Amino acid sequence: MPARKIRYAVVGLGHIAQVAVLPAFAHAARNSDVTALVSGNAAKLTEVSKRYRIPHTYSYRDYDRCLQEGHVDAVYIALPNSMHCEYAVRAARAGIHVLCEKPMAVTTEECERMIQAARQGRVKLMIAYRLHFEQANMSAVDLARSGRLGSVRFFNSVFTMQVRPGDIRVKRKYGGGSLYDIGVYCINAARYMFGEDPLEVSAFAVSGTDRRFKEVDEMTGALLRFPQDRLATFLCSFGATDVSAYEVVGTKGRLRVEPAYEYVGELKQQITIAGKTRERSFPGRDQFAPELIYFSDCVLKNRVPEPSGEEGLNDVRIIEALYESVETSRPVVLKKLRPTRPPTRKQIITRPPVKKPKLVQVKSPSL
Ligand code: NDP
Repeated sequence: MPARKIRYAVVGLGHIAQVAVLPAFAHAARNSDVTALVSGNAAKLTEVSKRYRIPHTYSYRDYDRCLQEGHVDAVYIALPNSMHCEYAVRAARAGIHVLCEKPMAVTTEECERMIQAARQGRVKLMIAYRLHFEQANMSAVDLARSGRLGSVRFFNSVFTMQVRPGDIRVKRKYGGGSLYDIGVYCINAARYMFGEDPLEVSAFAVSGTDRRFKEVDEMTGALLRFPQDRLATFLCSFGATDVSAYEVVGTKGRLRVEPAYEYVGELKQQITIAGKTRERSFPGRDQFAPELIYFSDCVLKNRVPEPSGEEGLNDVRIIEALYESVETSRPVVLKKLRPTRPPTRKQIITRPPVKKPKLVQVKSPSL
């Protein structure tokens, strides 16, 4: 008997779906299969289904039919942020498991609806935080918790890119904004490095005169106060050259990860303890197949996924508080966040990198 596989519909055939999610199924064949595509673009449906031999294709109008016809067990939602909630809730109501791209949604109210729908539909809900399965990040978590850096005092991070004009990331109606798109990685990393949630946050945002940033911030700088008198700071920007780095500094040592958040190419750590510096490099790997493998296992073995809906909700709540701080020019105290299980190195899954496939009518998010 072949092992049972979870059958996925990939919903939205944009850049991340085509460049990373669809190719990842080849590395997740142990327990995952892509059996359906949902898109508003007929040419994409034809070409992409042919390339990957995917038998079922649907327009958004036919989404409910896709959920009901019995060809899929789960959806991978790769739509603009503003559509995550609606497409997740509809899937959950139909009894279909949901693996949803980050950020979970635009508002905490939407996140709550997604969690409730998953509970009521008795389906698994996971937010696609690929770094929870990635070796450079999870071994960094291990180091921070080991005490080898002494007592960890602060985290700081920079995540920046030059966004393409007109991209969904700079449109408010799609849930654009630097905190939602890339700041969420810095927030999530600070939380997994400390293994705790912030108590209070403060932020400044600027938009400058660049026409790309008429609707959303160009960059936001944030300061987060954590329990045990620890601080995290980060700066995320859509208008600066690529940087993807963080640093964790303790009483006895420091860890720098750069690049830290990328899904293509190698990631690197630099660890300095007692004046001695050691470098570790982690070859580029497929970071999407691990999510599929892990999530399918959760469905097949009836396990609660980590990163859960609550994990996604907590980050969105922090983002809302940061934007509130921007608006009011005041620090914002957070109500206690939901309990979550921080990720650990036990979650690391390694698969070789994917080759860049031929893309059908998509544009890169960056210049
Ligand atoms: P794209 O703009 O490239 O893709 C979004 C796709 O959504 C479109 O191509 C389109 O697919 C579909 N769509 C449906 N309705 C609309 C609409 N009204 N306007 C625009 N698009 C629509 O974005 P990305 O692929 O870069 O991002 C998609 C999601 O993935 C976001 O939530 C983002 O945060 C996340 N992401 C995650 C990454 C990670 O590393 N985990 C990296 C990059 C993005 P179609 O034409 O098939 O209908």
